[in-house]
Amino acid sequence: MCKPGDTFYVKAKDKELRSRAESGAAVSTLLKFALETGMVDAVLAVQKGADIYDARPVLIANPAEIQEISGSLHCGTLLLSRLFSSYLEGAEGLRIAAALKGCDVMGLYELAKRGDVKLDNILMLGLNCGGSVSPEKAREMIAEKFSIDPDSVKKERISKGKFIVETAVGEFSLSMDELEAENYGRRSNCRRCKMKVPRQADLACGEWGVLGTKATFVEACSEKGALLLEKARAAGVIETSLPASKGLEIREKIEKSMHRLAESWREKDFEALGSGKSRMKQVIDETSRCIKCYTCVDACPALSRIKPSDFSAGSPGKVPPAFAFHALRYALVADSCINCGQCEELCPMDIPNSLFMHSFAVELQELYGYQAGQDLSLPKVAPLENRSHNK
Ligand code: SF4
Ligand code: SF4
Ligand code: SF4
Repeated sequence: MCKPGDTFYVKAKDKELRSRAESGAAVSTLLKFALETGMVDAVLAVQKGADIYDARPVLIANPAEIQEISGSLHCGTLLLSRLFSSYLEGAEGLRIAAALKGCDVMGLYELAKRGDVKLDNILMLGLNCGGSVSPEKAREMIAEKFSIDPDSVKKERISKGKFIVETAVGEFSLSMDELEAENYGRRSNCRRCKMKVPRQADLACGEWGVLGTKATFVEACSEKGALLLEKARAAGVIETSLPASKGLEIREKIEKSMHRLAESWREKDFEALGSGKSRMKQVIDETSRCIKCYTCVDACPALSRIKPSDFSAGSPGKVPPAFAFHALRYALVADSCINCGQCEELCPMDIPNSLFMHSFAVELQELYGYQAGQDLSLPKVAPLENRSHNK
């Protein structure tokens, strides 16, 4: 029997599906299986829209449509969590499976804490995530640094520290470190993100630790996730094998080095922002461009219960709003910021909201020994280094 903490290499049994999808089609096969067998009523996923810079959410009820969901789409920066609360009634009357990045999962926990989603009805297939690139920045980076027409790019991926693009004439890559040194590459919140393997989900899936075979490394993180794996294996839709010890070692190394990198970005970003009065001055200067569109409020998983009318302290009708508007936003998010980057990504005035919120939240979280985006009442899977290999 599969149980929380178990790890496997997983691939679809269906050869056609395997040849079409990445990493052995494990995630799409598990989503399809959950839908076909009635474990869930629908699947929420991301689909490629007009091009690789256009990530679109899609709710699928027909298992045949699962093949249309996207593999990696690093130039799309959607956060799926608020879709559950804003458009899917918090999954109250619908059981939904979803393939989710770490920030999506953390966002769901923040919403659940506020009573805005029913986690029991959500089956979370977590996806390892090294980061994503803003669509506009991706176009600029591809034109400037790769000297390629952004519209000619058919596929992109981030692998082994490189950003790789594929066009009709071949594959081109550049080191992510070099790109980021010139302020290209991943979004700044993604550089600081430590949620690379989303173990708060029911399954954590990704390619780190897979050696020489087209498969997905899957870690069972909850009873629900373990049950899905067990049922899919018994039904013969997936095949599983135990990870090689070298694979486990490599996976651990990758995860640790990504954490170190995130820590060094935090130090760099927070140091540049400063503290005390100089930080507040930067915050006041930057937010003076605000046009009070409320996008940062609408997008934030920690502000799901907040309405524009709650901001009457910020001088109604006045643009830019009084600083009280931002002070109230910060106070309401407080230590709950999950660093998803939405308030910055979507801000029409390019205000680095996420950097400000994250810096305040990290200070508070360090003070209280708490981490946003987790349900502390849930049993946790042991950290990788304390875990024995599968029997
Ligand atoms: Fe991935 Fe973290 Fe960025 Fe979310 S915030 S896209 S989990 S790196
Ligand atoms: Fe102001 Fe930007 Fe928030 Fe809009 S998204 S209210 S412009 S800070
Ligand atoms: Fe995400 Fe911004 Fe809200 Fe933090 S404050 S959780 S970065 S939207």
